[in-house]
Amino acid sequence: MKITGIEAFQIEWAKGDAPEKRGAFLRVHTDAGLVGIGEASPMQGGLASLMILKHHIGPAIIGQDPLDHAVIHDRLIHRLVKLGPEGALGGALAALDIALWDLKGKLLGQPVYKLLGGAWRTELPFYASIGGNGARTVDEVLRVVEARLKDKPAAIKIRFDNDRTVPDADIPGDIAKARAVRKLVGDGFPLAFDANNGCSTGGAIRLGRALEDLGFWWFEEPVQHYHIREMGEVARKLDITVSAGEQTYTLAGLRDLIEAGVTMVQPDIVKMGGITGLMRCAVLCQAHGVELVPHQTQPTIGHMANMHVVAAQLQATKPIELDDPSNRRHAVFTAPPRPVDGLFHVPTTPGLGLELIEAEIAARRLEIG
Ligand code: CA
Repeated sequence: MKITGIEAFQIEWAKGDAPEKRGAFLRVHTDAGLVGIGEASPMQGGLASLMILKHHIGPAIIGQDPLDHAVIHDRLIHRLVKLGPEGALGGALAALDIALWDLKGKLLGQPVYKLLGGAWRTELPFYASIGGNGARTVDEVLRVVEARLKDKPAAIKIRFDNDRTVPDADIPGDIAKARAVRKLVGDGFPLAFDANNGCSTGGAIRLGRALEDLGFWWFEEPVQHYHIREMGEVARKLDITVSAGEQTYTLAGLRDLIEAGVTMVQPDIVKMGGITGLMRCAVLCQAHGVELVPHQTQPTIGHMANMHVVAAQLQATKPIELDDPSNRRHAVFTAPPRPVDGLFHVPTTPGLGLELIEAEIAARRLEIG
């Protein structure tokens, strides 16, 4: 099988979607007539990743065999490294890798998780990931959490999404919100707190102690993601599990976090080398006895790819992430990933198990320059 061409385009989920709300899709065509689908990190609509795919990656992979996906990935990351391995290039390579795994599954007639060595589980519980709580009042936070409990999540994460340039903006307010949510859901319900890089080292330790008292399950990205040593210091000083890694794009970067003392890492499949990249992360985590709990806030192709990897892991110590419970991004799929009674079911059909509806793609697709 040989690659004959690619299509890299944005998807407008609703008419007039702001550019940063669009999806970033990739299709890889082959001489076998099979088509693989992938997705780049849709940060700012994924435009920068799509441009790299269209202008630099697409022309370089014509005639190559999709089954050589790991060689293709490693050759491209070294060839294009000066575009910056962290960020847009990572998203582009992730989209490509996911599409090549989709092709591999379709060629061999197997779901991706089988090609990864088989599934330990094909029903995956999820946690409701709720953003924007820094700007809400305590009461508003409670109303949003209440609404999300209806989906039967296995856990809830409250994210604060504060201005990263103003550390420790309102630690007493953050603790008050955490305490109110704990009271709402009861003592036994699993909760997580995501500081979204909003604390100083000292502020994080103070906040983390309060979260320990409230029985929170994990404390995510307390300090700036680039302060790896300080992230590790917070993790070592607190008893609560401290997590980080959603803004890590390389295996070496992940190793640095683990060596600093972080015991739960959250690389994202649409940033970190796709399925090949996330499987490499899994090996690193297993060797170090570190929890792998992938970040995943895009409930489309990337989400499905992530589920195949999680299904194939020896341990899945935490539920998978679900950010947007709406069907806003479902229209282009015949069977979009959505939970039933609190569980996602990993498809058993070949490849990722996602089929696109061509008329919906045509209606929503936006070409890039
Ligand atoms: Ca996060």
